[in-house]
Amino acid sequence: MNLNGKKVAILGCGRSGVAAARLALAKGAAAACIFDINPHASCTDPGISLIPGAGEAEARAFAADLVVISPGIEADSPWTLAFTCAGAPIIGEIELACQFYTGRIIGITGTNGKTTTTALIEHLLLSAGKSAKACGNYGFPFCELALAEPAPEFAVLEVSSFQMETIRSFRPEVAIWLNFAPDHMDRYKKVSDYFEAKFRIFENMGPEQTAIVRVGEALPRIAPRVVEFSAFEGSGLLRYEGGRIMQEEREVIDLRGTAMVQAHNAENTMAAILACRAIGLTDEQFLPFIRSFSPPHYRCEVVTDQGGILWLNDSKSTNLHSTEAALRSQTQPVILIAGGKDKGLDYSPLEPLLRRSVRHCIVFGQIAEQLENTFSPICPTTRVQTVPEAVQAAARHAHAGDVVLFSPGTSSFDQFTGYVQRGQCFHDAVLLTISQ
Ligand code: ADP
Repeated sequence: MNLNGKKVAILGCGRSGVAAARLALAKGAAAACIFDINPHASCTDPGISLIPGAGEAEARAFAADLVVISPGIEADSPWTLAFTCAGAPIIGEIELACQFYTGRIIGITGTNGKTTTTALIEHLLLSAGKSAKACGNYGFPFCELALAEPAPEFAVLEVSSFQMETIRSFRPEVAIWLNFAPDHMDRYKKVSDYFEAKFRIFENMGPEQTAIVRVGEALPRIAPRVVEFSAFEGSGLLRYEGGRIMQEEREVIDLRGTAMVQAHNAENTMAAILACRAIGLTDEQFLPFIRSFSPPHYRCEVVTDQGGILWLNDSKSTNLHSTEAALRSQTQPVILIAGGKDKGLDYSPLEPLLRRSVRHCIVFGQIAEQLENTFSPICPTTRVQTVPEAVQAAARHAHAGDVVLFSPGTSSFDQFTGYVQRGQCFHDAVLLTISQ
């Protein structure tokens, strides 16, 4: 891509927008201006021009040659399209970065597990002595890696479906497809639109690249070499037996006693192992470092096991699929705490898992009544308003040997600023309740 003399409009003044503007200028753009719809937007970098509260008039006046959109910006909204008035193409921040990034790319997508897997691969590569940085949806904006001198050898890139909508030539050396389930139905009209956006990760890959795919994902035929894994099916290259990742009859690693022992995290670990192998590492170079890894906070994180009751904080569970995975990973009776904002999801697919392992449900938040109606015919269900009330109710019902699983299954915006604040609230409420 030749940016010499071009006028680049960057939409969205977040960290990745600023990095995109700096990259465009470093690569010869005549002008790189950030536009933000928010009249109060401000820019942390004084060298970058920003137009806050930008509308159609500003878009027309700038007459961009290229439009670069930040991750949260929709490619087909009227506001975005106004910037294409002079015929400029639209690309995403990831596409801009990959035009100039000179290192090797490991791309990670899936409905759930992206951040955990991205963080794990970065940890393993760094521990094995490679230069690597987590980027994309997690870690640094990819454009910052493209600007770095020297660039890290590996970009471990978490990619969301939104970012895949605006790629053109993006081609990772290794692409991981962790799983797929309906989500983001506020953004997509059909589940198939969400799938197709994600599936674009393989679009430019050929037989010399590697796709790491969970068994049973029902993907259409793809060009890269495919390696499969699953914690639940035995037909992949890696499988999971009694806490151990196996390849044929050989134990690859025993995950018991590590933070990755739950089945869904075993799948993330398998994907990371296969990625490290695909880029040429030997097992000896990276496997020992799995033991020192913990997923980022609020992903089935242990709060305490005081009194023989294991309290797990899975506040990052913002969709049904992650709650299903958290439930499926439990081997002890569960008190499930779920609830939050109404995202229009149907929770009846949880029924078999509720029957299998849940002793009691505590439901809270905006969807409490819907959840109570769905869950109560299957298992005893208590409805409360808030997370602290849910914790108190769980403490009344839990016995030694139980798991209290806080896995809300939807977003938190009815009561919180996000999953972090919700996770902190649960954590504090648990510590307060058990100290009483
Ligand atoms: P993402 O970045 O895709 O949102 P995270 O690693 O942040 O993924 O985890 C999000 C949620 O999904 C958490 O509730 C976590 O416990 C759960 N989770 C993590 N890995 C998996 C997986 N492989 N399959 C299903 N759920 C998972």
